[in-house]
Amino acid sequence: MAIQIITNGTVSIQTGKTLHVVGLSGGKDSTATLLLAIDKVGIDRVLPVFADTGNEHPQTYEYLKHLEAQLGISIMRVKPDFTEEFKRKRKFISEDRRTKRNKFGTKLRWSNKAKRRALLVLYPTGNPFLDLCMLNGQFPTNKTRFCTETLKRDLFVEMVDEIVQANKGNKVVVWQGVRRDESAKRADARKFSRVIRGFYNFRPLITWSVDDVFKCIADHGIQPNPLYASDLSRVGCAPCIYSNKPDLRVLFSGADGQDIIEKIEEWEFLVSSASKKGRAAFFQGRELAGTKKNTVSELVFWDRHKIGNIVKWVTKPGQFKAGDWDALEVAGSCQMALGLCE
Ligand code: SF4
Repeated sequence: MAIQIITNGTVSIQTGKTLHVVGLSGGKDSTATLLLAIDKVGIDRVLPVFADTGNEHPQTYEYLKHLEAQLGISIMRVKPDFTEEFKRKRKFISEDRRTKRNKFGTKLRWSNKAKRRALLVLYPTGNPFLDLCMLNGQFPTNKTRFCTETLKRDLFVEMVDEIVQANKGNKVVVWQGVRRDESAKRADARKFSRVIRGFYNFRPLITWSVDDVFKCIADHGIQPNPLYASDLSRVGCAPCIYSNKPDLRVLFSGADGQDIIEKIEEWEFLVSSASKKGRAAFFQGRELAGTKKNTVSELVFWDRHKIGNIVKWVTKPGQFKAGDWDALEVAGSCQMALGLCE
């Protein structure tokens, strides 16, 4: 995976000294961490880095610009470039002549129809989230959460590794906005740790509470990401594969709601086309839309998880009951009395 670096202005770093890298997400913790790093070591030795998934909330992109203007900094935006992966995938599909079957008896080989459909769309779009899903032929799910792994963790590690190599002889400290009270997984996180010689992790907020974080941001005269003032429970992708119903309600009814819905509609078309089965839905990995697995056929389960139906599920006032689909699906189905189609 190649890394593409986009900066808003010039990133100027004093070389020959310890370099302090801050991973920014647009959320409160990383913002507070950035402010502390600037206080402690000075603006010239801090490199703020934002790993862009391509699926962030529009307000987060705006907030990064706001931070740059307020603090007089330039944030390095990094994203993966999957051009080579697309070439390999296209070659694999075009040359696929496998004769074996999987344990369910299904042919492993791409059918000619699926090949033609996928090869029409399998080109990099430049949006990391979409490109990764097209390469995987599906959206991330609970079991295959490749979005965070590839677009955040792996990208950041690879980028820091490049910085460490380029800064041979100088120390690199990565400041992380991790707090112990965030989750049980982080309860034992250490404040300072050595990764390899010359490369350290520093977590200055480790014992902080949420209130401490917001106070720190306010004390610096900075506004937190405006998404915290909305009713969203978390700041992250828009939408996130984990978004719950109340969050989706807020997202879809906001000023950017229609754009977000249209984005997912387009992505579902492209990812379905790029997949061997010819289908994909952003929320397919979860039991949403009042539909439980094994209570309906796989095709119905998949169809009810496409974004158009997710919007119906989210926006219906009150509780959505399984029977509500009957009215919605009859209204949307072919009314032809001759019954020539289903
Ligand atoms: S916020 Fe959600 S969709 Fe975005 S990278 Fe993380 S898990 Fe994936």
